[in-house]
Amino acid sequence: MKKCRKWIVFLLVMAVMLSGCGNSGQNANENQKTEKQDSSLSNKEQEDSLLEPEGAEEESKKENTDSSSEDENSEEKEVSDSQETIEPESPAVPTLNEQTTVYAREEVVTTSSVNVRTAPSTDSEVYQTVSRRSEFVRTKDDGTWSAVEVEGKEYYIASEFLQLKSEMPDNGYLVVIDAGHQGKGNSEQEPIGPGASETKAKVSSGTSGCVTGLNEYELTLMVSLKLQAELEARGYQVMMVRTDHDVNISNSERAAFANDAGADAFIRVHANGSDQSSENGILTICPTSANPYMGSLYNQCRRLSECVLDAMVNATGANKKYIWETDTMSGINWCTVPVTIVEMGFMTNPEEDQKMAQDGYQNQLAEGMANGLDAYFGN
Ligand SMILES: [Zn+2]
Repeated sequence: MKKCRKWIVFLLVMAVMLSGCGNSGQNANENQKTEKQDSSLSNKEQEDSLLEPEGAEEESKKENTDSSSEDENSEEKEVSDSQETIEPESPAVPTLNEQTTVYAREEVVTTSSVNVRTAPSTDSEVYQTVSRRSEFVRTKDDGTWSAVEVEGKEYYIASEFLQLKSEMPDNGYLVVIDAGHQGKGNSEQEPIGPGASETKAKVSSGTSGCVTGLNEYELTLMVSLKLQAELEARGYQVMMVRTDHDVNISNSERAAFANDAGADAFIRVHANGSDQSSENGILTICPTSANPYMGSLYNQCRRLSECVLDAMVNATGANKKYIWETDTMSGINWCTVPVTIVEMGFMTNPEEDQKMAQDGYQNQLAEGMANGLDAYFGN
């Protein structure tokens, strides 16, 4: 009986194929009519063939091959097909699915780094790749692909990577995070503050783990990314000075980035080094009340440094050192927004170095910083 049904399906498919390969949507409808008479397809299968006209045809073909030879190849093909569908497969001339398309002008935000394409298909050209939290105006959404406007033109982003801006948590505060240092230091000089004659290296190479060999610039980015995720989950808007090691951004430029963004707090993530391997613990850095460049921000910087230090010690159980008040830091002196430098621990201390390299401890460090920011803002 089953074999007989398959032959009928096969003949029907052949008949449909011979009747011409015009618009695939029409084919699907024709298919559906004949199959309805045959009444061998369930309602579910009929729905599928309506939504995915080409897939439905392929399904019937597959059934035929399967009946003639149960070889491993066809099974493998099915498996690999299903693994590839991270972004949907699309027809030869990709367009949105008209039957499911919703038209609306709405502000959306990307939930991860994602490709903006020229057509709703993973085979189409990538117009640009945008970072997480990029904003667009969406005009259409068929549930799989969304049309967005870029400079008056229409481009496409997979809908699963978009979220309505109105549904994003937002507590109204913007935090800028600077993952200290970078892949290669830059010894060129820059003034240590606005109008200063004294200069310092644009950005030094930082320290490294005495046991782990981890570079400070690697550790600071690992923890900064965790802090970003934690803060965003708590409703903060976050901007990162860097998300890459291969950058060249001086300390004054990092401050300018936070100033231009209008940060409510600027948190600069570093790790410490010492000649004495026994030295360990967390400290934070702020300007003195007599800072000639930005002393008017002293109270805010001091309180931010206190809140962050206390919360980090609470979260990690690490040794609490102190708040270091100094006017020697270019990345502080150039700030027009409240700033603190966090020295998360000593990479020259064997135990602290190994602890800081661990994922779990890094989470505690990030959580501590986030708690400190919450305390500073009174959240
Ligand atoms: Zn550093």
